[in-house]
Amino acid sequence: SNSIRIGIVGYGNLGKGVVSAIGQNPDMELVGIFTRREPSTLNNPDGLKFLHVREVEQYSNEIDIMILCGGSATDLPEQGPHFATMFNTVDSFDTHAKIPEYFEQVNQSAVKSGKVAVISTGWDPGMFSLNRLMAESILSEGTDYTFWGKGVSQGHSDAIRRVPGVKAGVQYTVPVQSVIDAIRNGETPALSTREKHLRECFVVAEENADRERITNDIVSMPNYFADYDTTVHFITQEELEANHAEMPHGGFVIRSGVTGKNNRQIIEYSLKLASNPEFTASVLVAYARAAYRLSKEGVSGAKTVFDIAPGYLSPKSPEQLRAELL
Ligand code: NAP
Repeated sequence: SNSIRIGIVGYGNLGKGVVSAIGQNPDMELVGIFTRREPSTLNNPDGLKFLHVREVEQYSNEIDIMILCGGSATDLPEQGPHFATMFNTVDSFDTHAKIPEYFEQVNQSAVKSGKVAVISTGWDPGMFSLNRLMAESILSEGTDYTFWGKGVSQGHSDAIRRVPGVKAGVQYTVPVQSVIDAIRNGETPALSTREKHLRECFVVAEENADRERITNDIVSMPNYFADYDTTVHFITQEELEANHAEMPHGGFVIRSGVTGKNNRQIIEYSLKLASNPEFTASVLVAYARAAYRLSKEGVSGAKTVFDIAPGYLSPKSPEQLRAELL
């Protein structure tokens, strides 16, 4: 067949999203999903092909692009450089401060193996990064704003679940609407962390837990909550399951600039996502197509969204794109 043969490493939220996105792209086929867990123990109602990661080397000629769906904290720093020694890869590494270091490590592997490794794609980093770059390049005089939410932050939800007396919990990052309205109106305020986002927590407490102490532990937590206005709501396990099971997210990238004799020019890109992992997975799959084409052209090494021409993302030919979208 002529389709792009995809492998997946890691079957969490993102891995599931990639399975679904491949199903929406007829130029791609899923070869298998590699996991560190015992494959037979995974819930598999759709008859997916799960394999143990230790078998991966046998597939080096059967997979064109490996999509890495591990976590950024501990999985990808190890898996990114490792899989780039054998496969063309695409990942969504999102620890912004460590991207330069991660790029160097993956690049070393990919240059040596002659493979392409697209790192840190998704929406932020990813689509937001691309829009920040375009806006800043076009409006050289201006102010940038990125807002996240309203959406579930996995890291902050994990942090509240580590507070003693907390049984379960979800954290929403909420952008401050009045500030966004002011920026859209042409104001360019200097904003502190606290002025840009609120944090809203929904917590299921253990029986007899001291709720006041839990609230204080959360709102005063350094790095995660102390710099924000945080509210804590106590709810039941049933309410949590009924109202907070989804993973919505989104946000805004805005650049407010001036050209000529003080003509205000505002660029805005926004996302409103019912499922963060399914959207991120859709971006990964589009970049898998780009990685496939780059690899066919003989390109190797680590690449980011800044290095890849947009036409490579599309299943359409350059001729078709010029005729239909230009
Ligand atoms: P996740 O669900 O926690 O999955 C991470 C890994 O944990 C999986 O690859 C899987 O590896 C393992 N795992 C998953 N479920 C498990 C379970 N029930 N028991 C044991 N192990 C399990 O994380 P995710 O939501 O897919 O997100 C992955 C990463 O994507 C995040 O860390 C984040 O950095 C990144 N991300 C980036 C963007 C962006 O815009 N760039 C957006 C969203 C997310 P095995 O199958 O090998 O066990």
